[in-house]
Amino acid sequence: MELVDNKKQIYIIVATLLFAIIAMAGAYFYLLLYKQSLELKNSLDIAKDNISRAQKDNSDLQEANDNLSESLAASQAQNAVFESQIREISGTVGTLQKLSETDPELLKKYSKVYFLSENYIPAKLVPIDAQYLWNGTKLQQIQGDTAPFLVNMLIMASSSGINLKIVSAYRSFYDQLLAKTSYKILYGSGANQFSADQGYSEHQLGTTVDLTVPKFNDLSLKFENDDAYAWLRGNAYKFGFVLSYPKNNSYYQFEPWHWRFVGVALAKNLHDSNKNFYDLTQREIDQYLISLFDSQ
Ligand SMILES: [Zn+2]
Repeated sequence: MELVDNKKQIYIIVATLLFAIIAMAGAYFYLLLYKQSLELKNSLDIAKDNISRAQKDNSDLQEANDNLSESLAASQAQNAVFESQIREISGTVGTLQKLSETDPELLKKYSKVYFLSENYIPAKLVPIDAQYLWNGTKLQQIQGDTAPFLVNMLIMASSSGINLKIVSAYRSFYDQLLAKTSYKILYGSGANQFSADQGYSEHQLGTTVDLTVPKFNDLSLKFENDDAYAWLRGNAYKFGFVLSYPKNNSYYQFEPWHWRFVGVALAKNLHDSNKNFYDLTQREIDQYLISLFDSQ
């Protein structure tokens, strides 16, 4: 009986010990897991910190970037202002230079009392190609900037079947004086009326031409009824040429052959408003000086 009791006691002790060991092991593993979870939590916190720091850095960078973009835009705007100021200044300089290089005489109105000075000679004179001359053996000259407008007009006329020829272009004061003298000898006191033509000041400018077609011997009032005259009336303004003395004008006798270069803009304006060069005031005309040699 006692032996049985002892055995029981031993079982109880062993069981108790086993239980204690299991409990301690459990506690140990629990603590171990707990410690690991703490460490994990810690690492997680650190990672979260890192992420939020990176996010902040990123937004700082973004802000810095925004600031830079703003300053860039501001300096670009400033540059644009400078640029437009420079453009404006150089535009003004260009305009002034263009004006200073354009001879104001070339758009002056001349009259029976207001002539060019006898000493006036246009700055640039160039010879006209003989193919455009009525008399190819006699040299004719034209003001250099006017030459391309004249040649273009003659080429365009020719392509419409109009064979325009230049009888006379630049004439010096003395050329004209000689011509008048010879007319006087031939025609006596009637010379002034007949001495083609009254617009000699305009010829002295170098921007004016007397035109005809080969069927006429020279300048002729019959030119008025020719297709060439009709073509000039409808097209010469596109090349900057106008008829100085149209029919029934109040200044001079009608001269259908006498065409003066006044620039495309002014010629077009005169054509569109059905006015003559000498109808405008000098002040109105002078506004076109700046664009005298512009192609439109
Ligand atoms: Zn003339």
